[in-house]
Amino acid sequence: MKAFTYERVKTPAEAAASARKTAGAKFIAGGTNLLDLMKLEIEKPTHLIDVNALGLDSIDATAEGGLRIGALVRNTDLAADARVRRDYAVLSRALLAGASGQLRNQATTAGNLLQRTRCPYFYDTNQPCNKRLPGSGCAALEGFSRQLAVVGASEACIATHPSDMAVAMLLLDAVVETVNPDGNERKIPVADFYRAPGTTPHLETILQPGELITAVTLPPPAGGTHIYRKVRDRASYAFALVSVAAIVQPDGTGRVAFGGVAHKPWRLEEADAALPYGAQAVYDKLFASAQPTPENAFKLLLAKRTLASVLTEARA
Ligand SMILES: Cc1cc2nc3c(=O)[nH]c(=O)nc-3n(C[C@H](O)[C@H](O)[C@H](O)COP(=O)(O)OP(=O)(O)OC[C@H]3O[C@@H](n4cnc5c(N)ncnc54)[C@H](O)[C@@H]3O)c2cc1C
Ligand code: SF4
Repeated sequence: MKAFTYERVKTPAEAAASARKTAGAKFIAGGTNLLDLMKLEIEKPTHLIDVNALGLDSIDATAEGGLRIGALVRNTDLAADARVRRDYAVLSRALLAGASGQLRNQATTAGNLLQRTRCPYFYDTNQPCNKRLPGSGCAALEGFSRQLAVVGASEACIATHPSDMAVAMLLLDAVVETVNPDGNERKIPVADFYRAPGTTPHLETILQPGELITAVTLPPPAGGTHIYRKVRDRASYAFALVSVAAIVQPDGTGRVAFGGVAHKPWRLEEADAALPYGAQAVYDKLFASAQPTPENAFKLLLAKRTLASVLTEARA
């Protein structure tokens, strides 16, 4: 591991000021992803800003009737919150489908959104990887791609985003609140938060260097039946091959988002509009531009069948 300096900050303004004055600084929350990447020298921050004492660990009702989830709320606490379980059940279920109890006790809302891909070549520093080392190439294109993206990828990168929680946040139209190193605050819909890989897959979100996530806000509850179905190689401690998050209303309308298939959680307005016409219609919209590899083409059939099963369950 590379040497680094470490600092505990007490306010978001202090965190932002520290990020502004130190090039190569990174925030650390639960550390469950960042520390692993530092040990492998994939992440090499010069300075760690520990944000755990910022007091951003409460879940509060908003004036609009939604919830404001502090950036430091642990995954376990968010999944167990009575209001989340009742009104945003898809979020609770997505969180509980992720990692393990111990990891969820430590992992935070902001850290979960910003976790890095699980592409095996991203972790293997002997292999070319445009995400780890821009311009070096992509070993996955001709390599082991069973877990990787079938849609929304590029010639530079076919990695998937590993978060379960982010899929539910996208489905719920959540908004990420941030503060920049210059003190300016922003509100970014999760739908606009993640970038497509394009030619710059190392840039995964629209956050600026040193921009701190302070909270994620949920709009008022959408009602309906909430389902999160994750298909994976093992029943626990495994990332999604395909996951489906759905909210279906009694009249057959609703919304659907997928995890495990793209560089970011995957949802399209036209697919939501197709929901009353059934799983095939939704699938056709979501995967019209699919470009699987020979190794992961099975994910398309898996996605279609998982979606059909979820919609059948929701309507029952
Ligand atoms: C064995 C294992 C299995 C797993 N399985 C799953 C799974 O099935 N599904 C799933 O979704 N996840 C899974 N995870 C990932 C886990 O959910 C993430 O590691 C965790 O959510 C990251 O949160 P953290 O607080 O520990 O982030 P950290 O490791 O502290 O940080 C992650 C990133 O977020 C940045 N960051 C943190 N807080 C802020 C902030 N407030 N503002 C700006 N940047 C910030 C950090 O700088 C870093 O870049 C697994 C992890 C492991 C180790
Ligand atoms: S798919 Fe992306 S993360 Fe994986 S090796 Fe290629 S560039 Fe790297």
